[in-house]
Amino acid sequence: MSKSAPLPPGSTIGILGGGQLGRMLSQAATSLGFRTHILCPDEKCPAGEVATDWTHADYTDAAAIEQFVAAVDVVTYEFENVPVACADMVLEAGGLLRPGKRALEVAQDRLTEKRFCKDLGIETAPFMPVANAEAASFALNVTGIPAIMKTRRLGYDGKGQQVIHEESEATTAWQSLQGAPGIMEGFVPFEREISIILARSTLGHVTYDPPENVHKDGILRVSSVPGSITAEVQDRAKEIATQIAQELDYIGVLAVEFFVEKSGLLRVNEMAPRVHNSGHWTADACYMGQFEAHIRAICGWPFGSTARHSDARMENLIGEDAADWSAHAAQDKAKLTLYGKKEMRPGRKMGHVTYLSARR
Ligand code: AMP
Repeated sequence: MSKSAPLPPGSTIGILGGGQLGRMLSQAATSLGFRTHILCPDEKCPAGEVATDWTHADYTDAAAIEQFVAAVDVVTYEFENVPVACADMVLEAGGLLRPGKRALEVAQDRLTEKRFCKDLGIETAPFMPVANAEAASFALNVTGIPAIMKTRRLGYDGKGQQVIHEESEATTAWQSLQGAPGIMEGFVPFEREISIILARSTLGHVTYDPPENVHKDGILRVSSVPGSITAEVQDRAKEIATQIAQELDYIGVLAVEFFVEKSGLLRVNEMAPRVHNSGHWTADACYMGQFEAHIRAICGWPFGSTARHSDARMENLIGEDAADWSAHAAQDKAKLTLYGKKEMRPGRKMGHVTYLSARR
């Protein structure tokens, strides 16, 4: 890794994407004296409202991206589905893209991601690519039943997924993908789910204590720290995440989600080349939260401490949960964060509450 001079306060950080992650990144950057510039096609994006500048443009609008790159000192992204063509445009315009393009390429396709892990000797769920109905049935021989059929791309929060309980359901599951390339995954009989939030820069890397995560309907509901996991499992998870970050020559915050089996075996579920929902508690319970860590990493600043000063339980506010904002706000030892989204829709992440308690 090349060492480059840190970006001084007053520099401008360009962020591709305008969701809540971009919003919280912008807020953390502002606290460190940076300016931020969001590029997002959505006119009502949560991040634009708190950023210094805001370009409404499509991610493949070459002219807009060229202007955006000229106006910023570093470019980062807050979601993994930024088109690779956009990353190319940033690079062609001379932009410093952190994390890099390869992290996007690997993380936005479940098949590429699993093959990447396999090549590194890292366990995942058994998997098979699926391109037609026959392949869907055949894949069950490899994955076993139950299995989950997923779209290779553009699936998040459980979208584009279908659980298969018997072979006869394979064709319907394939049809539900509506022609999109798929991947069949064996259903992992996990005991719990955890994630590692890691930050890496040209100066080194740091990790947070792994939260234990509970999902419902494919959406993260709760992250708790500390989780009920042995020190050995924690160390192994950190080792795997570090191996992935090194292989990608990664700069920024990387999240790696794991299934933990009863035996302690870890299987990578997926990785996100960005700050992550299961790391939101770090902003309230650690000396340096994940958003600040990402900004420090991409700007070449030294890291602060990832130690937690409190134990934490983060609960997502999904859809109507956020209608109760005044009740959440009234709670003791709880930190409420709302994302400023105008419309409350079922399944939409509207905010989160972190409950803090004395560190055990
Ligand atoms: P994903 O969007 O792929 O991360 O899936 C969301 C959630 O669905 C995961 O966090 C798990 O709770 C569950 N899930 C996804 N894939 C599998 C699998 N292969 N085995 C067991 N559970 C899964």
